[in-house]
Amino acid sequence: MKNRQVAKILYEVADLLELQGVQFKPRAYRRAAQAVESCPTPVEELAREGRLSELPGVGKSIAEKIEEIVATGQLKYHQELKKALPIDLHALTQVEGVGPKTAKLLYEELGVRTLADLEEAARQGKIREIKGLGPKVEEKILRGLEEARRAQRRELLGYALPLARDLCRKLLGSGTVKRVEPAGSLRRGKETVGDLDLLAVSDRPEQAAQAFTSLPGVEEVLAQGPKKSSVRLSGGFQVDLRIVPPESFGAALQYFTGSKAHNIRLRERAVARGWKLNEYGLFDEAGNRLAGEKEEDIYRALDLQFIPPELREDQGEIQVAERGQLPRLVTAEEIRGDLHVHTNWSDGRGDVGELAEAARARGLTYIAVTDHYKFSQAIRGVTADDLLRQLDEIARLNEELKGFRVLSGVEANIQRDGSLDVPAELLRRVEVVIAAVHSHFRLSKRQMTERLVRAVEHELVDILGHPTGRLIGERPPYEADWQEVLHRAAKSGTALEVNANPQRLDLAAPMIREALEVGVRLAIGTDAHAPEHLDFLELGVLTCRRGWAESGQVLNCLSWEEFLAARKRGA
Ligand SMILES: [Zn+2]
Ligand SMILES: [Zn+2]
Repeated sequence: MKNRQVAKILYEVADLLELQGVQFKPRAYRRAAQAVESCPTPVEELAREGRLSELPGVGKSIAEKIEEIVATGQLKYHQELKKALPIDLHALTQVEGVGPKTAKLLYEELGVRTLADLEEAARQGKIREIKGLGPKVEEKILRGLEEARRAQRRELLGYALPLARDLCRKLLGSGTVKRVEPAGSLRRGKETVGDLDLLAVSDRPEQAAQAFTSLPGVEEVLAQGPKKSSVRLSGGFQVDLRIVPPESFGAALQYFTGSKAHNIRLRERAVARGWKLNEYGLFDEAGNRLAGEKEEDIYRALDLQFIPPELREDQGEIQVAERGQLPRLVTAEEIRGDLHVHTNWSDGRGDVGELAEAARARGLTYIAVTDHYKFSQAIRGVTADDLLRQLDEIARLNEELKGFRVLSGVEANIQRDGSLDVPAELLRRVEVVIAAVHSHFRLSKRQMTERLVRAVEHELVDILGHPTGRLIGERPPYEADWQEVLHRAAKSGTALEVNANPQRLDLAAPMIREALEVGVRLAIGTDAHAPEHLDFLELGVLTCRRGWAESGQVLNCLSWEEFLAARKRGA
């Protein structure tokens, strides 16, 4: 059973409990679901090895429930909760504008159980009739339906990227291809990926196709041929392999990387010159190949700067490239530290030293340890006393570590009114203060805006953590006046986080671009709850790149000394 299917049941339990007005438990289930969903290892394997409780947020009771799901494909507890509300709550709440409460209301008023029911009700204009919903909500639901349908068939980038790399490595290892690279939305760093597209060069295409369709994990071969093969992996993910001649590799890479909208613009540019651009190359009127082997040559021949894949969304990149003014996007090599890490002082796995070692092994020179401040039974956080003892531990560790620095910090909770739950004298003692919303997600737009503004204007807050609270395919951003929040953050010098957890990627790319336009600085944080989560850093970098960010706008590109000096309270 797929992690995603297990997570789906846990999410639904959370929503059902929340509808019953149960406190704390929904949050615990949601955290466990997130951990399961973003875990690169199949939960079946963890269950078999008795390692489920290694997942952040998974205690004994939830571990047992996961074991039951893995063993039987379902959960009795879930089935019982569902009796009171027999609807596909998970699918319905993926639609923007439909929270658990709305889903319940729609079931009670209109008998909506599935996405199909929801669509029918919306199309027939029945939703606008319901008291408390109205035409605006109906419109939003119609738009959200399309997006939710698309998202259902997609995988998180954080899952697809390591998978793609693994497939490429194995294919190269088979000795049947000379070169193989992923294209498609994965190459553009998009937060979710539909099918996986691989492009290869081979002088033995038949054998390459054979090697591809016999890769471990292939469940079904949909097509096999010297030009194109398709398989479905055991997780349901479809992977296509195209074998192209070397002189067309660049053109094919360009073509299959997309986006469609970007390619249309590029093709128009070729056509305006009387040329032809397709997956085989760029050709002049007489059919001579002008470019094709290398992607760069295609852009150059069309009088454009090379446009990095992350920018190819038809968001003005072609006009900017024409003027030679593309940003010099931040790169993974420029990142020197991770600004959001949890340890076993709170709900993470691994102690401060282990996290530091893991970061050092990945070429970083510092981390900020920002454990949760205790605020509920559902989450293990640090007390004031713990935090002081942790400061001592960090100071001791920093004496031992050569060429590496652990910054002290805390992830404070932004309370309903925008105040922080950590006393100011403690905030002053630590070096990095992240403030983040972990409760009361559904306030009015005005209340949420005021709450976030109060937090970013707090003199001791360095970073607003996972600012919009969205969970990809799970929870939309909070309702807030984001322009207002961005402006106030820029003005007060508070950085906004680009949380690199695969399910968050929050801020998302479009808002990063808006933030940069008003002068907000970015702080990438993996929000690691285990040493291996430091690998998420590249997802944060990709997201920043999609948001047009340069290294000077990303605090992680500073040394730790420079970072401390750049905080709003200074060194
Ligand atoms: Zn958090
Ligand atoms: Zn965190």
